Amino acid sequence: MAPPGPRLSLKHRVRRLHPLAPAMNHTLARLERATAEDLTRYQERRLRWMVRLVAARSPFYREWFKTSGVDPRDIRTLADLEQLPLLTRRHLVERPDDFRVYPRRVMWPSRSSGTSGAPVTVYRTQGSSIYELAALRRQWRWFGLPSSARRVVLRGSDFASDQGGYPTKLIPGANQLMVSSFQLTPANLDQILDDIRAFEPHAIEGWPSSMNVLAKLLLERSTHLPVRAVITSSEVMTPGQRNLLRSVFDGPIVDHYGQTERVALAGVCEAGSMHIFSDYGIVELLPVDGSSNRREIVGTALHNWGFPLLRYRTGDEVVSAPSSACVCGRAFPLLGDIDGRIEDTFSTADGRPLPLPGTAVDDLAGVHEAQIAQLAPGRFEVRVSPGVGFDEKAVSVQIRENVDRLFGEGHELTIRVVDELKRPPSGKLKSAVVESR
Ligand SMILES: [Zn+2]
Repeated sequence: MAPPGPRLSLKHRVRRLHPLAPAMNHTLARLERATAEDLTRYQERRLRWMVRLVAARSPFYREWFKTSGVDPRDIRTLADLEQLPLLTRRHLVERPDDFRVYPRRVMWPSRSSGTSGAPVTVYRTQGSSIYELAALRRQWRWFGLPSSARRVVLRGSDFASDQGGYPTKLIPGANQLMVSSFQLTPANLDQILDDIRAFEPHAIEGWPSSMNVLAKLLLERSTHLPVRAVITSSEVMTPGQRNLLRSVFDGPIVDHYGQTERVALAGVCEAGSMHIFSDYGIVELLPVDGSSNRREIVGTALHNWGFPLLRYRTGDEVVSAPSSACVCGRAFPLLGDIDGRIEDTFSTADGRPLPLPGTAVDDLAGVHEAQIAQLAPGRFEVRVSPGVGFDEKAVSVQIRENVDRLFGEGHELTIRVVDELKRPPSGKLKSAVVESR
């Protein structure tokens, strides 16, 4: 069996024991059965509270209401939202503290560049974090998963170095068995399978590209690993990847969509439709220049009181959703296919897979944009363009640390500072690219 990881982290304990959790679960269960009108009423009530809060306490909005001439009391309905300004990543790259309402020490910070190359800084309250987890667990229940479901978790490999190379790590209180992508090799497969079977998982969860590496190894051995659900997020899946996951793990794909800024959440139901969780945030779908059927997801979070973002442009685009109601009967609106993160998987010189390698440049401070390229297996180049407060030496140290931690040590790495990153003909910058085959 896998050696146990560190004791349950404070974050996990707080999430499990939070006094608001039962009330949140009750509200989430009620809203799942609510009518569209009830959901709108719920959203509008919280929107009014949120606007009152930001007008009084958020430095950005205080200033905006003062200069715009808009009276916060006039923002009452969803239709009134458009009087408020749209926010972009730039706001959170350059001046995140202008949106902070609670002191930093009572919130959890996170930094990520998601699909775009420019890292943002955001904060979450404990309450909003617990609400999000409860909303995701509500989705699990649609697929028969208990809320304490045991999950095999495959993301990157950030514990590869601190486990002495052991491929799995048990996190008992969180009901998770982590598997390091870096250790997903044919030689380790028996050990990994033994640990997974001893753990008796309800579900497998993580990045589709990581799960695909495991699925391929299992397929080569004609082995199946049946679970009740395959929980995915963070990446767009190709039809081939979906089929592979479904055939090796047998369970349905339980995909959800969210972002670091946490302004909108969506997830598929048992009927296979992607629903916007409208009790989590208000979603506007705004037209995209030069496209007749694409829309950008713009979100207004309804639970993060410490760092309120209204009308935040996620940069994520969707095709128009079907307008008919879903057979599952829920009133949550449908969301079209998301044009989200797609990255090439890198590999080390000795052939180990490195899924979602863009995470190595996700959290760099003071850069405008960043990209990592694989020039050959085990040979990488990071390109950064300077942003506010750029410190070349500190950024270089951080990149080196990230690459060592996520990819393992001993790789060839060059760092180039450029004025501007070269974009592909599509115009959309990828944070990780393979430039050799
Ligand atoms: Zn549905």
